[in-house]
Amino acid sequence: MQDLLPMTQTLSQLEHHGAFIQRHIGPSQEQQSAMLRAIGAASLPDLITSIVPADIQLPGPPPIGEALTEHLALTEHLALAELKAIAAQNQRYKSCIGMGYTPVLTPPVILRNMLENPGWYTTYTPYQPEVSQGRLEALLNFQQLTLDLTGLDIASASLLDEATAAAEAMAMAKRVSRLKNANRFFVADDIHPQTLDVVRTRAQTFGFDVLVDKAEKVLEREDVFGVLLQQVGTGGEVHDYGVLIAALKNRKVVVSVAADLMTLVLLRSPGSQGADIVFGSAQRFGVPMGYGGPHAAFFAARDEHKRSMPGRIIGVSRDAAGNSALRMAMQTREQHIRREKANSNICTSQVLLANIASLYAVFHGPSGLKRIAGRIHRLTDILAAGLRQGGLKLRYTSWFDTLTVEVADKAAILERALSFGINLRSDLHNAVGMTLDETTTREDVLALFSILLGAQHGLSIDALDADANAIPADMLRQDAILTHPVFNRHHSETEMMRYMHSLERKDLALNQAMIPLGSCTMKLNAAAEMIPITWPEFAELHPFCPAEQAGGYLQMIGQLSQWLIQLTGYDALCMQPNSGAQGEYAGLLAIRRYHESRGQSARHICLIPASAHGTNPASAQMAGMTVVVVACDKQGNIDLHDLRNKAGQAGDALSCIMVTYPSTHGVYEETIREVCQIVHQFGGQVYLDGANMNAQVGITTPGYIGADVSHLNLHKTFCIPHGGGGPGMGPIGVKAHLAPFVPGHSVVQLDGVLTAQGAVSAAPFGSASILPISWMYIRMMGAEGLKQASSVAILNANYIARRLRSAYPILYAGRDGRVAHECILDIRPIKEQTGISELDIAKRLIDYGFHAPTMSFPVAGTLMVEPTESESKVELDRFIDAMLAIRSEIDRVANGEWPAADNPLVNAPHTQMDIVGEWSHPYTRELAVFPAGSANKYWPTVKRLDDVYGDRNLFCSCVPLSEYP
Ligand SMILES: *Cc1c(COP(=O)(O)O)cnc(C)c1O
Repeated sequence: MQDLLPMTQTLSQLEHHGAFIQRHIGPSQEQQSAMLRAIGAASLPDLITSIVPADIQLPGPPPIGEALTEHLALTEHLALAELKAIAAQNQRYKSCIGMGYTPVLTPPVILRNMLENPGWYTTYTPYQPEVSQGRLEALLNFQQLTLDLTGLDIASASLLDEATAAAEAMAMAKRVSRLKNANRFFVADDIHPQTLDVVRTRAQTFGFDVLVDKAEKVLEREDVFGVLLQQVGTGGEVHDYGVLIAALKNRKVVVSVAADLMTLVLLRSPGSQGADIVFGSAQRFGVPMGYGGPHAAFFAARDEHKRSMPGRIIGVSRDAAGNSALRMAMQTREQHIRREKANSNICTSQVLLANIASLYAVFHGPSGLKRIAGRIHRLTDILAAGLRQGGLKLRYTSWFDTLTVEVADKAAILERALSFGINLRSDLHNAVGMTLDETTTREDVLALFSILLGAQHGLSIDALDADANAIPADMLRQDAILTHPVFNRHHSETEMMRYMHSLERKDLALNQAMIPLGSCTMKLNAAAEMIPITWPEFAELHPFCPAEQAGGYLQMIGQLSQWLIQLTGYDALCMQPNSGAQGEYAGLLAIRRYHESRGQSARHICLIPASAHGTNPASAQMAGMTVVVVACDKQGNIDLHDLRNKAGQAGDALSCIMVTYPSTHGVYEETIREVCQIVHQFGGQVYLDGANMNAQVGITTPGYIGADVSHLNLHKTFCIPHGGGGPGMGPIGVKAHLAPFVPGHSVVQLDGVLTAQGAVSAAPFGSASILPISWMYIRMMGAEGLKQASSVAILNANYIARRLRSAYPILYAGRDGRVAHECILDIRPIKEQTGISELDIAKRLIDYGFHAPTMSFPVAGTLMVEPTESESKVELDRFIDAMLAIRSEIDRVANGEWPAADNPLVNAPHTQMDIVGEWSHPYTRELAVFPAGSANKYWPTVKRLDDVYGDRNLFCSCVPLSEYP
């Protein structure tokens, strides 16, 4: 059907046409009609009505925000303009506040080619190593950087932030401690306050006593299993903890040290002084402060503790041809296998930001980094000398980049700093703090003199530039860092650009093909949604700046919260958790605190269905709860009989249930209201895991269904890109009775916005700087657009299920054989008959140019496909055709045409090396590499990874020089 001529349309029809909705939703109206016909549905609303249980369908249109219902959804340009006006209410001061956050100079070559490049930001967590070698290499570089700077043996590929890394260090110290009866964790009294806040929150649920005192005092304390020190105190003092660490090691106390990446360039590594665990923020390696995040935390430990590490480790393994190849090691499926015994609940972490930090080190190399760190330190020496000359007293005699200056008239000085456009640290007793960074200029130092000494200070930078050094000689680094060639080759922009592109080309991202990952919602991350995150108005704010300077952020966060409240049917929203799993933890804490507030602290049992995501039991354990598994029936639904029994048995000890809706089996359970009622009846709360919100938005809400609290994965449903495994945001929505119990923050207090509870993240609003992505999405889709998106996501999944069901059995279905927004293909019968497994199909899909679906979750031996609404019918058909072609390849194995041990499936994926040299396989090279034709061919760079070899030989630093090209 041809469009009507523009002359015959009304103005509002013409305007509607420019709407973003049609850009976000893949299938056109005609394609939707064709798909509806193919699955035998009369219309989209009919389809939804027939799938979603009647008792949970919202009676009216989705009740989203006044702005959104009054006006049409905004076009990309209008939404950008509206957000720009909001952003303009943020005030861009120069923040010398420090406390773990500094301004940075993101190298433009990294900004443009990585942070703003969908080839990097739309990739998925590298579970399929054959399509992920580029970002795996960047992450391995991050680990190498961590190892070199910390002086330890094994490093992971990023945690969520420095404060949560500290909590992980404490939990790990307890795991590895040989002092089984010790229950105290000692914290030096000059760690950053937000770190202490998060550690305290975590210690409470674990039942640890946290002791805070001067570091030396630890030797006077008994029953301490672990210690947390900060190499450079929050006030700037450089500590030489060598002797103390040795004494603690004698007593078998596990020592963790928080450190700063830039400082470590010049300072002795804590590892070389005996520390067991070293961690910190990688923010100042090129990642903007962004009002608190996202930033990567680094984390390293001794080799003997490698099986106890939290988070992911990238390991060097080899592929089927014996070539070295990278993969996620050990921890990869840790949560899904070990559940509540997992080392941590971290799933989404900060991959994109870790990679920015890693490439910052590649770009600058060891001498560039030393120059940058040296300049920061020299400027600090000059500042210190000038202030002393001017008669001021510094609180400490050693420093790297931070000074604490004693002042009598603190308020006046802070005020004067503001008039210079500078923020100083304001929370110190009778002192102000200032931290310098790579953006600091001579003029800035002169301004600091004027602020502290008055305009007539008469100081000159050059006159003060003496050879002073406030780092104790013993604390200066002697060993070389970053000697690996990767850190010494790519210093010109041309080389750097090409290196980054060479990595990008190895990976399969959304700019190449659909990524049909069940439970992960790999939908469009639109350019207009991404643009605001690098606006300086959002990027440059320090998380602890005066609230008046963050007016734009607070307005944006307030609006987004309001919209999410309406979309979830809750009463309040907490924007602090910086991943879905952290949201689970925060939500469970709220439940725990609520029970405690009513004198029911005995409620500790958390019911979790057998099908739950691995983070659920891991989070429950972190929240100090005991997991009891509830059975699922043959259809994959929660077994109500078992639920009633387990809830009854728990009795007064029942805390809550964690359910995912629609279930991880991809169906809308008809009994969800009953599930909520049963749990409530026994005095429990309902935690509804919101990872599958893409099947609810605009159609139903967790609040309407009867749940008390949910996290949202903004990096799934609300368009924040996966970034290769992070960043993410996991805000929680709660009913009113839980609202007083969501996390607060000890450094930032905002009445009516933050509670007085302990924090779960370093920053009050988590990874605030990626929230504009979700804001833009909702603003451009509007209420109706969001409902349409959910509806089309469901249509797309049902279209795939219908077209594939004769080739692959669909494991679970609801009424009329329909699925929700994803479907599970059961490969077990195929494997039984033919020997071809879900793994073979996943790898063969690579030859066809696709990323595999989710493998063996929630059921072993299956593939879970989630197309999302963003994929057009053309792309769905291409995927379906590939899956059908693979099915006929399986048949050729089944009927003996190809041997079970030598066929295109078990040998997949094929690389360019397969088109040259010997060829002895019973199928052609053409079929091997071009099963879907040669146009737009994606080439994996390695053959299938050898998992067994990788598990046995854990090697997590850069490949040896002999193997480096
Ligand atoms: C993704 C997911 C989570 C965890 O979210 P992260 O952001 O990765 O921590 C939890 N539950 C379900 C069902 C999920 O799909």
